[in-house]
Amino acid sequence: MTDLNKLKIAEARDLLGKGELSSVELTEAHISAVEASKPLNAYIESTSEIARTQAKSADAQIKAGNQKGMTGIPVGIKDLFATKGVHTQACSKILDGFKPEYESTVTQNLWDDGAVMLGKLNMDEFAMGSSNETSFYGNVLNPWRLKTAAGEKDTVPGGSSGGSVSAVAGFAAMGATASDTGGSIRQPAAFTGTFGIKPTYGRCSRFGMVAFASSLDQAGVITRDVRDGAIMLESISGFDPKDSTSAKLDVPNFEAALTGDIKGLKVGIPAEYRLEGTPQEILDIWDKGIQWMKEAGAEIVEISLPHTKYALPTYYIVAPAEASSNLARYDGVRYGLRETVDGDGLIPMYEETRAAGFGEEVQRRIMIGTYVLSAGYYDAYYLKAQRVRQLISRDFKEAFEKCDVILTPTAPSAAFEFGAKSDDPLAMYLNDVFTVPASLAGIPGSSVPAGLDKDGLPLGLQILGKAWDEETVLKVSHVLEMAAAFTHQPSEWWR
Ligand code: GLN
Repeated sequence: MTDLNKLKIAEARDLLGKGELSSVELTEAHISAVEASKPLNAYIESTSEIARTQAKSADAQIKAGNQKGMTGIPVGIKDLFATKGVHTQACSKILDGFKPEYESTVTQNLWDDGAVMLGKLNMDEFAMGSSNETSFYGNVLNPWRLKTAAGEKDTVPGGSSGGSVSAVAGFAAMGATASDTGGSIRQPAAFTGTFGIKPTYGRCSRFGMVAFASSLDQAGVITRDVRDGAIMLESISGFDPKDSTSAKLDVPNFEAALTGDIKGLKVGIPAEYRLEGTPQEILDIWDKGIQWMKEAGAEIVEISLPHTKYALPTYYIVAPAEASSNLARYDGVRYGLRETVDGDGLIPMYEETRAAGFGEEVQRRIMIGTYVLSAGYYDAYYLKAQRVRQLISRDFKEAFEKCDVILTPTAPSAAFEFGAKSDDPLAMYLNDVFTVPASLAGIPGSSVPAGLDKDGLPLGLQILGKAWDEETVLKVSHVLEMAAAFTHQPSEWWR
């Protein structure tokens, strides 16, 4: 571990630009950190040779006067993004051995800007989960705590982007790509003291992202602070003709939005997020956030999002429905795993492959999804859920007539122990209570490290914004970050 591992993206960018640091040096320090981070199980594949080649060309690019925000910056890639010729399995056994013939647009955008790929990051299988316990490659540990005494359990990093947050919090990547379908960027960021932002649905291309629930899936980033998040988000964003849902909009200079000035801005506090049973320390950090916003000159407005309580059930109908359809393509013929059954023909081969290739949680989602889409139940579940989804979007539209951003806790608890919720899917799903409404509405949201709980684990606050207004989300996140002055770091026990 050298000081180079602790640099922020913006700091490294400035040193690279002045010629005081080379991407080759920075990359070597991070290749070593990836190696040292093995106990975290954040990386499932390291791509150090690719990284070395990219670092050399980044240095040449900088010398030629062609530096962009991410040029020469080593990052990790969630295993959900297709990387040409490199392991891409969404951490599922069913994609066994799959190496795509093409690159996802999000990662291509990074390479076009000169970023450096350190490797592929662990995640919940097909991004289904909130604790990274469903990965075929095993649990990812939260750098913030591991068992200290016999009988005590390790702490989850959150999910599904568990590898992304563990690598960034553990100084084994300067930033990481991630995806958020119902909270998978924001909740793990909150659990690990990192910054995460999910932009508006359509801001980034979904081309080459392994599909979970296509109307919700959105790429985003995990970094160690808001400025780095702005820089990296700008790099991955933009219109892509290969994704019909990507928006034909110019990408703003996100970093320029970090003015530090939120005077007069209206911050909405939704009454419905004061859920019964929310731990006091979550309510306390929320109150602190409100106080910080006031001190920075923002105006606090009480708002109402009346359909909030229907968001979780709606999400857990819509997402599995889309997943059951998307995952139908894994049939043992076109990708990865194939289980052969002697002489029994095609149907048993499908069945055996899918039974062996999908984990328990993914099978559960496929069954729920198939059920809610089936004739006779379609109207009662899926169609009804689509209607409620419209009401939830409308709630946000109406709320944003009264405020510029919304401030809430990111998750109803700090990181929990392995096994605490894995036998109880409902308890696990409840962890997404504050993040799924924004996913259903397609609006941008971030999670900012705000403090520690009584056990020394990070807590995050969520900022939600109007569609296409990532700039205000980032601006407010930045002010919140300065006010919270979160400088804690994990103890580096894994080295
Ligand atoms: N935890 C949620 C789920 O399991 C969200 C996952 C995600 O955003 N990919 O579906």
